[in-house]
Amino acid sequence: MKAACRQATRSGQSLGFVPTMGALHEGHLSLVRASKARCNLTAVSIFVNPLQFGPAEDLDKYPRMLERDAALLEELAVELLFIPSVEEMYPDAQTAPRSARSTKSEDQDGAPKHREETYVLVEGLSSKLDGASRPTHFRGVSTVVTKLFEIVRPDCAFFGQKDAAQVAVLRKMVRDLDMDVEIVVCPIVREKDGLAMSSRNVYLTPEQRQQALVLQRALLRVQLMADRGERDAAKLVEIGRQVIAEEPAARLDYLSIVDPDTLDPVADVTRGALVAVAAYFGTTRLIDNILLTAT
Ligand code: AMP
Repeated sequence: MKAACRQATRSGQSLGFVPTMGALHEGHLSLVRASKARCNLTAVSIFVNPLQFGPAEDLDKYPRMLERDAALLEELAVELLFIPSVEEMYPDAQTAPRSARSTKSEDQDGAPKHREETYVLVEGLSSKLDGASRPTHFRGVSTVVTKLFEIVRPDCAFFGQKDAAQVAVLRKMVRDLDMDVEIVVCPIVREKDGLAMSSRNVYLTPEQRQQALVLQRALLRVQLMADRGERDAAKLVEIGRQVIAEEPAARLDYLSIVDPDTLDPVADVTRGALVAVAAYFGTTRLIDNILLTAT
C-alpha cells in the first residue's frame, strides 16, 4: 500500500483518504464522493481495528462484507483500496487467548483484547463523551489513524460528523503532532426516517430500529428549544433527556452539550455547541449529534 500510494502521487497528484471499518453505507460513500470531488486520487481503507474495541464489545460480531464493499468502491472508481489483516497492522501485538478473554477479572479491569507497545494517545479528549464509557477506544482510534496516515500519506483525510468526539480527538492529534494532512469533516447521512446511518444498525431488531428514532427526536427537540431562545445548556440537556426517557427501551449512556473542540460541557449555547447523545437499544450502542449554531 505504501508503494502504491507513493507511486500514485509521484507526479504531484493530490491524494484523499477515507478510513473505514467496512460494512459500507451511504455515510461512508458520501466521504468517498467528497474525496473524489476534492482530490485527484482517493484511497479507502477497510480495517476492523481491534485496538479500539473494549473487552466486552462487538469486535467478533462486527459486520464484515468485504466483497460487497469492494464492489461499491469499484463503482465509485476508487483508485486505492487497503484491506490489511490484523497481523499486518499489529505484528507484535499481544492477543489474549480466547479462553482467557471472557474471564471476569479481565472484563472488570477493562483490559483490551489486543495490546500494543506503542500507542498514540490524545490525553484529556480521549476520556470525554464516548471515551468515558469506552476507556481505550480513542487511544485505539488515534493509534490506527496515525499508522494509516503514515502508510497512505494523504493530503486530505475525510471523516464523518457522526463521530463528533472522534473528529475532536483526531483534529487535536494532527495539530499537536504537526501531521501534514488536512482533516475534512462531512455531514451526517441519515436514513429517510432520520436514523443516522451506522454499520451497527444491522444489529437492531425491527422494534429496536423504531425505538432508536428517539435519538434524533431528542436532538431535534433540543434544537427547537434553542431556536426558540433557550440558551441555558442545563435546561436543554434536561429537555433532551426527557425525550429519551419517553422511550423506555432506550438505555441512555450520555446526552451532553459541549464545546465541539474541547468536548467540555458549556453553560450556555449562545456561541454554538455540540449536542451529543449515546444510548443502548438492547446491546447495541448508537450515537448521534447535532451542532447548534452561534446566535
Ligand atoms: P466507521 O466505518 O464506522 O469507522 O466509519 C468510517 C467513517 O465514516 C468515519 O469517519 C465515520 O464518522 C463516517 N460515518 C459513519 N457513519 C456516517 C454517517 N451516517 N454519516 C456520515 N459519516 C459517517
